[in-house]
Amino acid sequence: MSALTYKCPNCGGSMVFDPQSQDFTCEYCLSSFCREDLEALPLDHSEEIQPDSETLLYTCPNCGAQIAMEETTAADFCYYCHNPVILSGKLSGTQMPSLLVPFQISKDEAKERFISWISRKRFIPPAFFSKNQIEKLSGVYFPYWTCDRTMNAELNGTTKDIRIWRTQDTEYTETKVYSIRRSGQVELRDLSRNALQKAQVRMLEGILPFDLRKAAPFHTGFLSGFQAEVKDMEKEFFEAEIEKETETYVKSLLTNTITGHGTFQADRFFMSEQKSVWHYVLLPVWVLTYRQNGALFYFAMNGQTGEICGQLPVDYRKLLAVCGGIFAAVTALITLLGGLML
Ligand SMILES: [Zn+2]
Ligand SMILES: [Zn+2]
Repeated sequence: MSALTYKCPNCGGSMVFDPQSQDFTCEYCLSSFCREDLEALPLDHSEEIQPDSETLLYTCPNCGAQIAMEETTAADFCYYCHNPVILSGKLSGTQMPSLLVPFQISKDEAKERFISWISRKRFIPPAFFSKNQIEKLSGVYFPYWTCDRTMNAELNGTTKDIRIWRTQDTEYTETKVYSIRRSGQVELRDLSRNALQKAQVRMLEGILPFDLRKAAPFHTGFLSGFQAEVKDMEKEFFEAEIEKETETYVKSLLTNTITGHGTFQADRFFMSEQKSVWHYVLLPVWVLTYRQNGALFYFAMNGQTGEICGQLPVDYRKLLAVCGGIFAAVTALITLLGGLML
């Protein structure tokens, strides 16, 4: 397996992906290149030298120092010269992501957003505002599984519409019972799960959703200047959970189309899969870890939307998770075939 670095054709400096311009920039002479330019460049490779079971050692293509990387890490920086190093071999075969959402939020913007988010939270230790802590912010591409599904579904039940009126000494109650059927096709997009065991799952799922319509076909160039982790969980692990989530969404989407009536009582629900497409994707996350009294606090920011999820040391005995949202957003298209039946 080889380690690679993108080098500037003008000065030989390392090139990194720039979220602001969405191009590739030389860190030294500031030349800028588009993706086509990058692909045309000869790559600077170096061979892995001494793998062991847990930690693999690689030679930095820039300074020749040995760099240790964990098994799931596919991109990082040389500890000695800070040169970006990508282990392309870890991103091949079944480990090759089909899509990647490039970072949209630059490090400077991420820092600003973190500071303004933190300053809006009360009871935060002053150290949180320290520049040193914020400087430790790192951009990491994390592995996720996402699933798009098309389901056929049918929901049957009844509603009771009750009307009460009074004339002098008599009270009338009119009860209309409707049998309601809804059937149709429901499309769910981007049902997502974190695919890395060691990751802070709550953080990584707390910053969902990502807009995968803005994803690009995978290319190692996007990783340059960032860290990247590869999956160690296969989609089979999530299938039962995704099925349950799908059922919840489909049921509520069909139920929500029943309006203008009293309480709906469902009695039969069927759902069958027409199509499911899974994607293994790398998604951009700004991560900040903060150590206090031996405890580690994690913050994650969606590198596409800026959504933040974090644990704040508000109460030192109890961790409080503060997240924007918990569930993946679902874009649903419903074609309703059934109607109201009396
Ligand atoms: Zn250069
Ligand atoms: Zn180096």
